[in-house]
Amino acid sequence: MERGVAESGILAQYLGVMAIKLCIKPYRRRFRQPLLTAHGYWQWRQGLLVRLEDRAGRVGLGEIAPIPWFGSETLAEAEAFCRGVSTPITDRPLIPDTLTATQFGLGTAFEQLQTHTPMTSVQNPQPSGLCGLLPTGEPALTAWPILWRQGTRTFKWKIGVAPVIEEIALLETLIQALPAQGRLRLDANGGLNLEEAESWLSVCDRLNASAAMATVEYLEQPLPPSQTELMRQLGQRFRTTIALDESVATVAKLETQYRQGWRGIAVVKPTITGDPNRLRQFWQHYSPQLAFSSAFETGVGRQAALALAAEYTQQVAPLPPLALGFGTLGWFDDDWDTLTPAQLWDNL
Ligand SMILES: [Mg+2]
Repeated sequence: MERGVAESGILAQYLGVMAIKLCIKPYRRRFRQPLLTAHGYWQWRQGLLVRLEDRAGRVGLGEIAPIPWFGSETLAEAEAFCRGVSTPITDRPLIPDTLTATQFGLGTAFEQLQTHTPMTSVQNPQPSGLCGLLPTGEPALTAWPILWRQGTRTFKWKIGVAPVIEEIALLETLIQALPAQGRLRLDANGGLNLEEAESWLSVCDRLNASAAMATVEYLEQPLPPSQTELMRQLGQRFRTTIALDESVATVAKLETQYRQGWRGIAVVKPTITGDPNRLRQFWQHYSPQLAFSSAFETGVGRQAALALAAEYTQQVAPLPPLALGFGTLGWFDDDWDTLTPAQLWDNL
C-alpha cells in the first residue's frame, strides 16, 4: 500500500515536471497580389501559431496552416481542437487523421520539446535549389528574369486558369525565352479535363524534344484527385512527367497511392500532410521521389518543413535532385519573412 502511494507520488511528480502549457495565436496575412489558381483568387492566408512550454522553460513552436480546398481541415476545426486540449498537458494529445495541419503544427512543436532542440533558424536554401513561383498568366514573361538574376533555375507556373489555347501560346513564348538550363513546372491544380491534359502533354513532349530549349520538368496534378488512375495512364502515354499534388495531399493519401502502384513524382506540402513522423515512415518504406513544397506558411511552419525536407534528402537521395518548392518568400504584404520564429510569435 505504502509502496503504491509512493509510486503514484513519483508519477504525479513526473507529470507535474512534464506539465506543458499550450498557447495559440491566430494570424491573418494578405498576399501582396492575390494568388490566382484554378480554384480562384487567394487573398488572405490565415492560420494559427502554437507554443508549448514545459515546466523547465523549454519551448516548442509550431504552425497550423490549413488549406481546406486542398484537403486539410478548416481553420475553425483546428482552432476548436486546440482550444479543447486541456492544459497543462501531461500526455501528447491524440489528433484525429482529419486534422492533418493540426497534426503537423502540434507534432513539430512536441518534437522540439522531446528532442530539447528549440526552433532555430534553418538556413534558407540557395536560390539555385529552390523553385521560384511565377505569377499566373502573361506576367510570368516579365517576372522570370528577375528571379533568374537571383540564381533561380526552376520555376513554377500555374495553368488551367485561362482558355487552353491562350495558355499554351504563352507557354511556348515562355519556354523559348528561358535559357536552356531553365526548368519549368506547370501546375494545373486539378483544373483540366482529359482532353485539355492531352493537349498540354503533347505540347510539352514536343517542346522537351528540343535540347536547345528549357525543359518542362513536370505537369503537376492535371486532373482532379478523383481521376488519379487516369493520370497514371496519361503518364504511360506521354514522355513528360506527371506529378501528383492534390491527389496526395495527406500522408494517408500518399500511402494509398503508393500502395496502388504510383511511382511518379509526388508533391509534399509538409505543413498540411499530417504527422511528421508518419511522413518519415512513409519515405523510409517507399524511397519515393518527393518534391517538397510550401503551403504559404509563415517562417515557423517553413522552418519545420525545410528541416523535414533536409532529413528526406539525407535519407533518400532522389536522382536528379528536385528543387524545393519554397521560392515563396516576398509574396505577402508584411515584413514577417524577415523575423525569426520567436520574434514572429512575440509580435503577433
Ligand atoms: Mg500544386
